[in-house]
Amino acid sequence: MTDLYDVIVIGGGPAGYPAAIRAGQNKLKAACVDEWINTDGSFAFGGTCLNAGCIPSKALLESSELYQRAKDEFAVHGIKVGRLQLDLATMQKRRASVVKTMTGGILVLFKSSGVLGIQGHGRLLPGNKVLVTGPDGKERTLEAKHVVLASGSVPVRLKNVPHDGQYIVDSWNALEFDAIPARLGVIGAGVIGLELGSVWRRLGSEVTVLEAMDQFLPIADGAIAKEALRHFKKQGLDIKLGAKVQSAAVAGPAVDVVYCDAQGEHTLQVDKLVVAVGRQPFTQGLLAEGTGVELDARGFIQVDDHCRTGVANVWAVGDVVRGPMLAHKGKEEGVMVADLIAGHFAEVNYKVIPSVIYTAPEIAWVGQTEEQVKAGGRPYKTGTFPFAASGRARAMEAAQGFAKIVSAQDDDEVLGIHVIGPMAGELISEAVLAMEYSASTEDIQRTIHAHPTLSEAIHEAALAVDKKAIDGINR
Ligand code: FAD
Ligand code: NAD
Repeated sequence: MTDLYDVIVIGGGPAGYPAAIRAGQNKLKAACVDEWINTDGSFAFGGTCLNAGCIPSKALLESSELYQRAKDEFAVHGIKVGRLQLDLATMQKRRASVVKTMTGGILVLFKSSGVLGIQGHGRLLPGNKVLVTGPDGKERTLEAKHVVLASGSVPVRLKNVPHDGQYIVDSWNALEFDAIPARLGVIGAGVIGLELGSVWRRLGSEVTVLEAMDQFLPIADGAIAKEALRHFKKQGLDIKLGAKVQSAAVAGPAVDVVYCDAQGEHTLQVDKLVVAVGRQPFTQGLLAEGTGVELDARGFIQVDDHCRTGVANVWAVGDVVRGPMLAHKGKEEGVMVADLIAGHFAEVNYKVIPSVIYTAPEIAWVGQTEEQVKAGGRPYKTGTFPFAASGRARAMEAAQGFAKIVSAQDDDEVLGIHVIGPMAGELISEAVLAMEYSASTEDIQRTIHAHPTLSEAIHEAALAVDKKAIDGINR
């Protein structure tokens, strides 16, 4: 006995659940199968992002930043708070409650778009059938005209760094610490290392970040990375570049980490060690023999620009396919696929996917870095504007960092916009929209920006590209 659906989505993270919702909005009979179990044993849709990634990390970043500001900044505003106290249990309870509200919201969205949410493990069988194994072990086979694979990713583990879930942990465990580690080690100065390192540093940990590469944050524009490193070091994040971890082992209630750098071998002792060296596609138990779906050498499901796998009516989206591992990238792919299935036009503009690192100062960019443009050989011009010259940033006591625009010399096309500073993640939306519409620098120059706002930094950086900045110095 099989049930027939128009669309079955395997995986209910930020790539899978939007695919199911859009399929429902397109009047297709859709179901979404997910197996996520939280550390308290509860089932929830939302995948890594809502349960163990974007949302809980941003909840803790917000709480820890408020604590840090109350500690270091309130006095500057003339606010006296007396003896400041940290209640980590309440902070963690709030984090969990933000997550629960968001994941619960998916069920409401499914209901309103007619999607059936199914708890269980989904396995693609040949012929577009999906074998679902429920939490009770019972199996049933669903049949679909289209199957969307959205099984996401899991953290990369290092061979000589065995996790025990208590002392040597991944990012998920590190979001749920119930005590502040006095000494925290992080392997990897990538996005997770910087965000989680910032959270625990603000709450009182002494944080050491071991990064294998000699270059800091190579994915970001060079000037932005340099400015970021300066701030993080000043804040007390001890970032060791060129530090190659050899091994780590639990030693009593602590962890010994052995690493090598240009000076030789060192041992670092920490109370907790977080491994944050990237994520890898997750396809375990997903594909039965004979489906024809192919993986590439790194384990990603192979797809074309429209997320077609090469097997008729089988699609794949999100972290399990090529491209940046970002929730908004997965969401756009999921929505695109559900629209294509319904016969609508749809595409993802992979050239304008924004990146945001939610540290303080925040870092955000879209398009090419100056280094990438230079390597491409197209003549270019740049303009920057420092937040030190922004009245709004000064009023916020957040006058750090700058906005930078890289534009083509020939036709003035905006090629990349990079921001390090207050609310950079919000400011970047204007840049994304500008690039989506193939804006020239002049288009941004002629766009009126309200005063006093942080967004004036983007306006002034655009003016600076042609040495016309009013509130900044043209260099
Ligand atoms: P996932 O979110 O991993 O979801 C996949 C789902 O599929 C899971 O629920 C899994 O249980 C389920 N599944 C897998 N296989 C099966 C199967 N066979 N049957 C049933 N279910 C299955 N990105 C951002 O854009 N912004 C951020 O601020 C951000 N912060 C992050 C912070 C942290 C700490 C981490 C770890 C990640 C962060 N990310 C962030 C990355 C983001 O979480 C991922 O890019 C995103 O979750 C990928 O979405 P996805 O739907 O492809 O996969
Ligand atoms: P990452 O790729 O951002 O950074 C991993 C870092 O670890 C790199 O700098 C790498 O050089 C380093 N590294 C790798 N192996 C190492 C080793 N053996 N020793 C020392 N350093 C080593 O990966 P991540 O921080 O784990 O994040 C995973 C994914 O999750 C990323 O793709 C990211 O896009 C996504 N994410 C996004 C956000 C956001 O959008 N704000 C936040 C968190 C995570």
